[in-house]
Amino acid sequence: MQDIRRKTVAAILAGGAASAGEIVDVKGWVRTRRGNKNVQFVALNDGSTINNLQIVFDLSKFSDDSLKPITTGSSIHVQGRLVASQGAGQSVEVQADELEVYGTAPVDYPLQKKGHTLEFLREKAHLRPRTNTFGAVLRIRHALAYAIHKFFNDKGFFYFHTPLITASDCEGAGAQFQVTTLPLNGLPKDEAGNIDYSQDFFGKLASLTVSGQLEGELGATALGLIYTFGPTFRAENSNTPRHLSEFWMVEPEMAFYEIADNMDLAEEFIKYCINYALEHCEDDIRFLNDHFDKELVDRLKFVVENDFVRLPYTEGVKILEESGKKFEFPVYWGVDLASEHERFLVEEHFKKPVILTDYPKEIKAFYMKLNDDGKTVRAMDVLFPKIGEIIGGSQREENYDKLQKRIEELGLTGMDWYMDTRKYGTVPHSGFGLGFERLVLFVTGMQNIRDVIPFPRYPKACEY
Ligand code: ATP
Ligand code: MN
Repeated sequence: MQDIRRKTVAAILAGGAASAGEIVDVKGWVRTRRGNKNVQFVALNDGSTINNLQIVFDLSKFSDDSLKPITTGSSIHVQGRLVASQGAGQSVEVQADELEVYGTAPVDYPLQKKGHTLEFLREKAHLRPRTNTFGAVLRIRHALAYAIHKFFNDKGFFYFHTPLITASDCEGAGAQFQVTTLPLNGLPKDEAGNIDYSQDFFGKLASLTVSGQLEGELGATALGLIYTFGPTFRAENSNTPRHLSEFWMVEPEMAFYEIADNMDLAEEFIKYCINYALEHCEDDIRFLNDHFDKELVDRLKFVVENDFVRLPYTEGVKILEESGKKFEFPVYWGVDLASEHERFLVEEHFKKPVILTDYPKEIKAFYMKLNDDGKTVRAMDVLFPKIGEIIGGSQREENYDKLQKRIEELGLTGMDWYMDTRKYGTVPHSGFGLGFERLVLFVTGMQNIRDVIPFPRYPKACEY
């Protein structure tokens, strides 16, 4: 069949009743077919929108046999005329003139019925993008990725590519996956019995990155404003609904920004992204709101419309200690707050996102700027309802001697290249890291981070 003018379902539905009379070609996958012996209705979805296009087959034009291959999951091409729809729920439908079946879907097609559990769909992750739920999540994910680039580009930031394979083993953000071509069943050893990495592919120990920040600082101290947006890998055994072994991170790094500028940027950035999704993904967010989380839209609007609380860690701990609440993990000054503590501050105490600042230096990374008290550093974690930490950032220590002292205290080596940023033309600077999937989790209202990335990787799970 000749393709006269292919249109996506999204484009046809956006055109509405005004385009009645037009001949179109539509191509997609069949969601359902129903009807009687005079007329059959097919709900067609092509992934461009959560909404289906109704195709009407008049059985005086099509034989029963010709429609038989059209079952749930099959793929078809229909040519026909757009007409104003009589049925409720859609403005236009297609009166089919011609049908071409690309591919049938036998009765063992796993997505026959609606209402599969998310756990079931996780087992069928290779097909789940075809469901309404994952279609919605993946379109929102795309919109957020685009919004991130747009936000930074419009502000004069440069997209800076940091390496995924790194030789820097002291990023300190988490356990690393090693990259090697050495034979694992016969590793070369040196005289002392240690693995001889000089014989490895890169001639040294190499790993997948846990963060692009340190290299990002090299960009910021040259280009001024940069951001990274790429995959990161953490080999931690964190089996939680908020951790993946491979996730995407957004890391802006800004020369001449102090901690307050950093907080302002983080708040503006995250609100911009949420707002962008509210404006551009209305149907998808509405669907998720109605099917999974009735408070989703209200929660998104609330975050966009209200100022985040800014609070020093020390005061946060005091609130937690005085709350009288029985936490699973103890709270005291110096503790690395657990998700239950973060969520108490956000969901029960302030009922707003909180930016917690000035953490004890012992629980934060070596590069954070030391405060005058000598005990705390200029860290800032953005804590969100339902998520906990969504952003972690800080003002960086720009003083060569102070940073060198910290590096020695922690016994880090191989940092000369990093120290050169402080040795030559050092400047105050700041940055943060946003876990992209945690943002997608928040905007979609999903409960598990494994459901907001197409192919999740987590301990003991690496399919496809
Ligand atoms: P958490 O305490 O939640 O494990 P973190 O403090 O180790 O996170 P950072 O090193 O500060 O995380 O990384 C910056 C951001 O990256 C975090 O704020 C979070 O949004 C995201 N992130 C960190 N680890 C993961 C992970 N394993 N999976 C998905 N996102 C993550
Ligand atoms: Mn953090």
